[in-house]
Amino acid sequence: MIGEDLIGQEPVSQGLRDGGRMALLERFYPDEYLDSAYEINYEKLYQDGYRGVIFDIDNTLVPHGAPADTRSMALFTRLKEIGFESMLLSNNKEPRVKMFNDKVLSRYIYKAGKPSPKNYIKAMELMGTTPATTMFVGDQLFTDVWGAKKAGIRTWLVKPIHPKEEIQIILKRRLEWIVLFFYKRDRGRYVKLDRRYR
Ligand SMILES: [Mg+2]
Repeated sequence: MIGEDLIGQEPVSQGLRDGGRMALLERFYPDEYLDSAYEINYEKLYQDGYRGVIFDIDNTLVPHGAPADTRSMALFTRLKEIGFESMLLSNNKEPRVKMFNDKVLSRYIYKAGKPSPKNYIKAMELMGTTPATTMFVGDQLFTDVWGAKKAGIRTWLVKPIHPKEEIQIILKRRLEWIVLFFYKRDRGRYVKLDRRYR
């Protein structure tokens, strides 16, 4: 009987409330959560065995639609000096992505279809890395983080650079806020994790 499966377990309502919420929300939880992509300790992560970094561009490295600036150019120079492979993975169109890449001289996949894991996997193939040696850095939970997690890649969520965003992104941010509320509550250690990679 179906009911017998529940004997000895926690009350059904409790199980649905906690287990259901966790199953629903945890798929969006980043592994790390930082203020900025520029605070990550890439040198240490290379020592830890990471070899490739996949980046979102808009609001992760520069404000939405902005060209590469001196800070982003310096970051890609630094990554190359460390020995990292890198890829830009953007849902934006090619002219925008190419314009950014022309300054940082990485490689890119445009119209990437995040959160589909397909192009995360392609990015790893191009870099010659695996999920175990690849990092992903992005600013959105429901595209960037979710896609990376589906591809089995460790994710660094960063706070969006530019506060002024389009209305559809603002609405998504409100949903992100709900996920992050539970993320912070479930992982009270996240502040400590923040510091580990600075
Ligand atoms: Mg973005």
